[in-house]
Amino acid sequence: MKPSEHLEEIENFKSAYIKKIEEVSGEYLSESSLLNQYEALAELVMDKIASQWAKTRSQYDEIPHKRVYLFSIEFLIGRLLKSYVNSLDMEETVKTAMAELGLDYETILSQETDPGLGNGGLGRLMACFLESSATLGLPFHGNGIHYKHGLFEQKIINGEQVEVADNWLRHGYPFEIRKPNEAVIVKFYGNLHSEKINGVLTFVYEDYEPILAVPYDIPLKGYHNNTVNSLRLWSAEPIEEFDLPSFNEGQFLDAVRHKSEAEAITQILYPNDNKFDGKQLRLKQEYFFVCAGLKRMITRFKRYNNDCLDEFADKICIHINDTHPALCGPEMMRIFMDEEGLSWDDAWKITVNSLTFTNHTVLPEALEKWPVDMMKFLLPRIYMIIEEINRQFQEELRSKSGLNELQINSLSIIQDGQINMANLAIVCCHSVNGVAELHSKILKEETFNGYYKLFPERFHSVTNGVTPRRFLINSNTGLRDLITESIGTDWLNNLFDLEKLMTFKNDAPFFDRFNRIKLDNKIHLANYINAHNHISVNPESIFDIQVKRIHEYKRQLLNALQILHLYNHLKANPHIEIVPRTFIFAGKAAQGYYFAKEVIKLINAIANLVNNDKDIRDQIKVVFLANFNVTLGEIIYPAANISEQISTAGKEASGTGNMKFMMNGAITLGTMDGANIEIHEAVGDNNILTFGLSSDEVSHFEKHGGYSSVQIYENDHRIQKIMHQLIDGTFGHLASFQSVYDSLLLYNDTYFVLKDFDSYATAQHHINELFKDKNKWFEMSLSNVAYSGLFSSDRAILEYQKNIWKTL
Ligand SMILES: *Cc1c(COP(=O)(O)O)cnc(C)c1O
Repeated sequence: MKPSEHLEEIENFKSAYIKKIEEVSGEYLSESSLLNQYEALAELVMDKIASQWAKTRSQYDEIPHKRVYLFSIEFLIGRLLKSYVNSLDMEETVKTAMAELGLDYETILSQETDPGLGNGGLGRLMACFLESSATLGLPFHGNGIHYKHGLFEQKIINGEQVEVADNWLRHGYPFEIRKPNEAVIVKFYGNLHSEKINGVLTFVYEDYEPILAVPYDIPLKGYHNNTVNSLRLWSAEPIEEFDLPSFNEGQFLDAVRHKSEAEAITQILYPNDNKFDGKQLRLKQEYFFVCAGLKRMITRFKRYNNDCLDEFADKICIHINDTHPALCGPEMMRIFMDEEGLSWDDAWKITVNSLTFTNHTVLPEALEKWPVDMMKFLLPRIYMIIEEINRQFQEELRSKSGLNELQINSLSIIQDGQINMANLAIVCCHSVNGVAELHSKILKEETFNGYYKLFPERFHSVTNGVTPRRFLINSNTGLRDLITESIGTDWLNNLFDLEKLMTFKNDAPFFDRFNRIKLDNKIHLANYINAHNHISVNPESIFDIQVKRIHEYKRQLLNALQILHLYNHLKANPHIEIVPRTFIFAGKAAQGYYFAKEVIKLINAIANLVNNDKDIRDQIKVVFLANFNVTLGEIIYPAANISEQISTAGKEASGTGNMKFMMNGAITLGTMDGANIEIHEAVGDNNILTFGLSSDEVSHFEKHGGYSSVQIYENDHRIQKIMHQLIDGTFGHLASFQSVYDSLLLYNDTYFVLKDFDSYATAQHHINELFKDKNKWFEMSLSNVAYSGLFSSDRAILEYQKNIWKTL
C-alpha cells in the first residue's frame, strides 16, 4: 500500500469508528465508556468480516469440496478481536487510528472477555484447528455447545483456589450471530414401540420431551485471506415461550419447570480435565449438540444434493474430538433409517465411511462409560441402535475373526452394564488416531490392542500442533518483527521456514536483539505479576514456568518439592550464589479435585516461605498466577526461559503448551512423554533437557511392581527433609499437607514423583550452569524457535487431510 492510501485508510477508519461509537452508545466519543469503545471496534470489525463470511459460504456451495465437520464438547477460542484485526491485515491502521483519536488500543482490547468454553488442551486444540483450516482456506466447521457459564474464574484467597461463576455473556458477545430460524428439536426420554406402518416395521417414539436447539455462529477468519468459516454453538431453550395470562397456576409451574430444565442443558461446562464425570446432564449435553449439529448438516447436504444421500461419505467427513460426541454413530443411523428410510446396511456404510475419531487420553479414569440404564431411559431409540450395532459387530467377530468368546466379550461396546464410548467410537469410525507418536503407539499396543489387531488399517497418528498466529505472531510481536526482518515473510505461511534463523546463530546484532526481546517480554510479565500478586520479580532471573491444568499426572508437585529442596539447600549454605530463578505456576484445579487443590495450596505456602525469607536474598521467587486462560497464556509463553513439561511418562497424550513455549524460544525441561519426544527429535539432544523414567519403565513398574517410594525416602536425606516439612509446621501450625505426604509414602507414589526426584533435581542444577553461558543459552533458545515448524497446527491439519479425512 502506498503511504497516501494508508493515510486515507486511517482517516476512513476514524470516521467510521466515530459514527459506530454513536450507534452503539448514543453518545459522542468523548463521552463514551471503555466498554462502548470496545463494542464499537468489535462491531466495525464484524462488519468487515460479514461480507467475506457470506461469500465463503456461497463459494463452498458452488464448488462442492469435501467438507469436514468437527464435533467437540469444548472449544477454547480465546479473545478474538486482535486476531480478526491482524488477520484482516489492519493492525497498523487500527492502532494508528485509535492513537490519533486519543484511545489506547491495548486497553480497548483488554475489555473483551475470554470465552472459557473449554478446560484445557483438548478444547484449545480445536480452536487451533479451526484457525489453521481457515488460514489454509479449507471448508471446515465446528459444532459445539453454547455454555451460558464457561469454566469458572479462579481466584486465590489465602493461598487457596476459590471458584467464581463465569458469566461471559454478561455484556453480550459481539462476535456471535443467533440463528433462530435454523433451530432444531432434540428429543429426550419417552417410550418406544414398533408398529407396521404401510407394511413397514417402524419405531414410534412417544411421550418424549422436546427441547429446542438454537445455533449461535461465530466467524473464524483465515490469516491474510478471504476465508471465513463458522463455529456453531448450540443453546438449549424451551420449545415454546409461554403466554402468561392463558395459564392456570398448575400449567404455569409446569411451564416454568420445563423452561429451566431445558435451559439447564447448556448452563454449565463440566470443569473436569482428563476425568470422566458420569452425570446424566452431561450425557444430555453430549446428545444435544450431536443431534442438533447432524440434523442441520444433513438437511443442508440434501438441499444441495437433490435430496440424495448416495455421495454423503464422499463429500462429508464428520470428525469426533474424543468420545464426547461418539453418539454421532448411532444418531446418524437413526436419522438415516428412521427419517430417511435407508436400510440398516446402507445407513451403516455411510456412517462408518464418514466418521473419524481422535482419542485424547489413555488415563483409565478419563474413559467414558455410561450406564445402560441411564442411556435407555434418556435415549431409548439411541440405546436400541447401540445394542444392535454391538450385536452385529459381535456376530461378525464370531463368524470371521476366530476369536473366542472371552476375547469377543472384551471387545464388546456394552460391558458390565455400561456403554464403553471409546469402543463405540472405534467400531463406528473408519479412522482412530492418537495425538503424538508415543500416545498412538500406546493406543495400538495397549489401550486398544484388541481392536488394532482386528482393524490395523484404522489406526493412525497425528502429532498435535498450535497456531503460530495466536501463539507467536500476534502475541510476541517483537520476535515476529525480528524474524521477518531477518528471513522475510515466507515463514508466515510456512513455519518450517523458521529453520533459516539458524544462519544467525553467530550474528552479534541478532543475538542482542533476540535477548532484548525476551527481556522485554519478561518485563511485561513481571509487571503483570507485580500488579496482580504484589510480588516483585527480577526480569534478569531465569523464568521457569509451569502453566497447565493442575493434575497429579502433570506433577506440579514434583516441581514444588524441588523448589522446597532448593530453598533448604540455600538456607543450609548461606554463601552459595545461584543464577536467580523465578518459578511461575498457573492453572485451575477442578472444583471437586481435592488433591489438586492441595497442590495449589502447597505451591502458595512455599511461595510465602521463600519470597519472604531474607536469607534467600531474592535468589529464588515463587509465583502462582490466578485464573490461567488463553489470554494469560499469551503473556506467559513469550516470557519463558524454561518450559516445565514433567508429566509421568506415558500419561500426557501430547501436550500443546510445550509447543507454544518452544515457538517462543523457551527450553523444555521434560520427561520423554507426549510430544516432548518429537520436540527432542526436532531440536536435538543439546537443546532440550530430559530426565526421568521412560514410559516403558513406568508401565513395567505398574504391571509388575518393584517400586517402593519408602525405599527412596530412606536413602535420600533431601527427600526426608522435605517430607517432614510437609507435616511439621514449616508452613504454619495450621497448614499441614498430610494428604500429600500420605500419597507419596503411604500409598506408594502412583505418579513416581519421588522416583524421578533425583534426576529432575540434577537437570535443574544443570540449567543453573547452562544459563551462565550466554552464547550457549542463546543458541539453545534460537534452535527451539527455528525448529518449531513441525508444531504448527497447519502441519497437523494437512496430515489429517491427507491421511484421515482424505480431502487432499
Ligand atoms: C495450551 C493451553 C493448555 C494446554 O496446556 P498443556 O501444557 O498442553 O497441558 C491449557 N490451557 C490453556 C489456556 C492453553 O492455552
